[in-house]
Amino acid sequence: LVHLARVNKHFGPLHVLQNIDLSVAKGEVVVVIGPSGSGKSTLCRAINRLETIDDGVIELDGKALPQEGKALARLRSDVGMVFQSFNLFAHKSILENVTLGPIKVRKLSKKQATAEAMELLERVGVATQAEKMPAQLSGGQQQRVAIARALAMRPKVMLFDEPTSALDPEMVNEVLDVMVSLAKEGMTMIVVTHEMGFARKAADRVVFMADGQIVEQADPESFFTNPQSERARDFLGKIL
Ligand code: ATP
Ligand code: MG
Repeated sequence: LVHLARVNKHFGPLHVLQNIDLSVAKGEVVVVIGPSGSGKSTLCRAINRLETIDDGVIELDGKALPQEGKALARLRSDVGMVFQSFNLFAHKSILENVTLGPIKVRKLSKKQATAEAMELLERVGVATQAEKMPAQLSGGQQQRVAIARALAMRPKVMLFDEPTSALDPEMVNEVLDVMVSLAKEGMTMIVVTHEMGFARKAADRVVFMADGQIVEQADPESFFTNPQSERARDFLGKIL
């Protein structure tokens, strides 16, 4: 479903993505881990074209990523993204945050968009907060709204870039639980996270990045119990 081949990206002299090859099948859940600065966020941003790449190909559903215009807007709705900071529209209600995209891009009627949004808010457990403004919600609730907002576009794949690392510890699990259930429902997901509990519970594959390269990848059990590279062993020693 998502296919990257020989993807390279530089920031000036810095080679942040080095010959990245990565394929993610439909329904697969891939957890990306690695030290700070290894290129995890850049990889996510490249996949939904928030960042350009220097060379290589990125395909979604067998089609190369469009560069601009309508096709790019459509691609963006095919790729849902949830960031570390919640990124909700501060001056719109929770409900409006979730209906805005579907009305504008999917051309739903307000009524239809509202019905779908309420269903999604129900699913992530914040339906009772629909009329509130983002600032009135806890971080964990806001992040669950951000997930609902991304899902409202009916994405083919969901990207998560450290979705719980800005949260107070007691709110981490309510967000991870939503992600685990999404994974179980068969959503294709690429998740940058250091939450190893999530990786063990939900990941089909763990991809370890360092210095802009994919150093190794394996199923979570083998990766955590028997990492192959020195870099991975060193990294796991620090976070586990
Ligand atoms: P972290 O775990 O800290 O989030 P990361 O693995 O997500 O790290 P990236 O954010 O992808 O790493 O950054 C990779 C490298 O590229 C870093 O050295 C970073 O400083 C650099 N970088 C990222 N964005 C830019 C930019 N817009 N301009 C210049 N350098 C950048
Ligand atoms: Mg990052």
